[in-house]
Amino acid sequence: MTEAEQHLRHDMVRLCRSLFDRGFSVGSAGNVSAKLPDGILMTPTNSTLGSLEAERISKLDAAGNHVSGDKPSKEVFLHQAFHETRPDAGAVVHLHSTWATAVSCLLDTDPDDCIPQLTPYVVMRVGRVKQLPYVKPGDPRTGDMIRDLKGAYSAVLLANHGPVVTGKNLFSAVCAAEELEETAKLVVALQGKRTRHLTDAQVAELRATFGQI
Ligand code: ZN
Repeated sequence: MTEAEQHLRHDMVRLCRSLFDRGFSVGSAGNVSAKLPDGILMTPTNSTLGSLEAERISKLDAAGNHVSGDKPSKEVFLHQAFHETRPDAGAVVHLHSTWATAVSCLLDTDPDDCIPQLTPYVVMRVGRVKQLPYVKPGDPRTGDMIRDLKGAYSAVLLANHGPVVTGKNLFSAVCAAEELEETAKLVVALQGKRTRHLTDAQVAELRATFGQI
């Protein structure tokens, strides 16, 4: 194992524990992957993000075959679909975090843009979020739906289930998942209230200054 892979495994343990300790994941909910030059690292099935062991993290080769560690999460196909269609993504974080999942249950959201651009940080770290229709957990059709987006979105919200968020590396994917969760909390807090969103010009200014997610 390379030193870089060892380092990435320890980063996964540390960042996943941080997500768990702060309530972004409970029980065995949520799963995380990170890209290697020869495949991906994936949190194992039935693991809890609070107590991963670096050497037991699943490794899959570039073709998606399980090559070492414990059996990967049954939601691995969500991650593979994003890694295939967003080659610049270094990591994918899937959570059942409370507020984003609450928004995923709301009727009348725009499925092409389901998290409003309320703050500069959601524009800069998450971008537009696509809501995908409900299918049962583990149904590989979700992977097909992510592939159909052809990499146009860095984050999706699975209806009545939770968010799947990418980032250029593991740390930025975790930060983006946290930013999405905090914005979802604002969305729920502002339900029924007249709300000022960022204008298209303000969003364009942010993208011109900080780059497109
Ligand atoms: Zn899930």
